[in-house]
Amino acid sequence: MKHFALFIVALLIAGCTGNGQKAKGDQSIDAADCEKIMDRNGKTVERSDTILKEILGEAGVETGKSVTLTIDYELQRLGKELIEGKQGAVVALEPSTGEVLCMVSSPTDNRCMMKPYTPGSVFKAAQALVLMSEGIITPETHYPCERGFRHDSLCIACHGHASPLTLTEALSQACNGYFCHGFLDMMNGGKYGTVQEAMKKWREDMCSFGFGDILGIDLPHESRGIIPKADYYDMVYDGQWDGQTILSIAIGQGEVMTTPLQLANLSAIIANRGHFHIPHVVKEIRGDTIDSKYISAQQTKVSRYACDAVILGMRLSATRGTCWTLSQLPFEACGITGTTISQGHDHSVFIGFAPVDDPKIAVAVYVENGGWGAKFGVPIGGLVMEKFLNGKLSEASGDFARQIRMQQIDF
Ligand SMILES: [Zn+2]
Repeated sequence: MKHFALFIVALLIAGCTGNGQKAKGDQSIDAADCEKIMDRNGKTVERSDTILKEILGEAGVETGKSVTLTIDYELQRLGKELIEGKQGAVVALEPSTGEVLCMVSSPTDNRCMMKPYTPGSVFKAAQALVLMSEGIITPETHYPCERGFRHDSLCIACHGHASPLTLTEALSQACNGYFCHGFLDMMNGGKYGTVQEAMKKWREDMCSFGFGDILGIDLPHESRGIIPKADYYDMVYDGQWDGQTILSIAIGQGEVMTTPLQLANLSAIIANRGHFHIPHVVKEIRGDTIDSKYISAQQTKVSRYACDAVILGMRLSATRGTCWTLSQLPFEACGITGTTISQGHDHSVFIGFAPVDDPKIAVAVYVENGGWGAKFGVPIGGLVMEKFLNGKLSEASGDFARQIRMQQIDF
């Protein structure tokens, strides 16, 4: 089965021959001859279906094998409706397996895994995991944030909230000041000798989440994103730099880039309390199991203790913080928002998962030029979680979904 799933899906995307003929001497072509494609609930999906094409490309499929996808067709359709008239991506994963539940892009190119974005504040969840696992902070560590971080002429602004604040409060407020202080303590605090060594350790931890490299999904053209190296800063600043020089990466800006798929995977890591399964879209090929690499768990470098603390912050965010609208859902959700600034526009970003104690779905939403994270990211993420967990949307949520659909974003 090794590489079988990858092969078959790659062919689906690349386009099967279309005339039903096999290439001479190439036994593996048999594997690409798909007779039937089903979603995770056994629903047959037409080869010409636009929603399937969204994931698998423009290919047609020939006769032979049956393929079951991990996709929840109804969830995929809802995601597509919600992001219509906007640019961005919605990705949902099943944390316990890494199965992709939906993967929606608008326009139709696969922005979920092919387009690296500036992650913004949702990256603070990863930052918190690293800082705690490295022993730089504990959940009780307080830092000030007087409408932002200020040092000499440097100012990274934040919105108004109580100060000083704990990690839980900082996550619930998506606070800039807190994470600037924490990151500086790691880079400049002397624990690693030099800032270069501190940066190497930071990068190693970040890369254990699947950032800065492909995750290995069974689809081609996945982007790596960027987690910068100390060498890069040595080159740019001629060896004369410290934590303050690169402070923007503390809050998920600057050189850091991640795909929506990587952000959904971060959410799954937190939901799983420290591990993940490589995301994949093929569940089964006519009774065969999938490649073992998609079954075994990938352990990150963060502890369960650190994940539990981040979960407290993401839960507070969903009850009283920047994701408070999630408190209206009939299950206990966790989330963190981001508003990222890129070329003068604010992008609306969200990651979350639910239910908190037995996570079934982890989501990432990225709406380009969508404004505050709470404007599009949180509502779309909440609707996707509700649809998956309850099988349907409540009447009020249905109305809300229609409102979201009506809101087009001009570019
Ligand atoms: Zn703040």
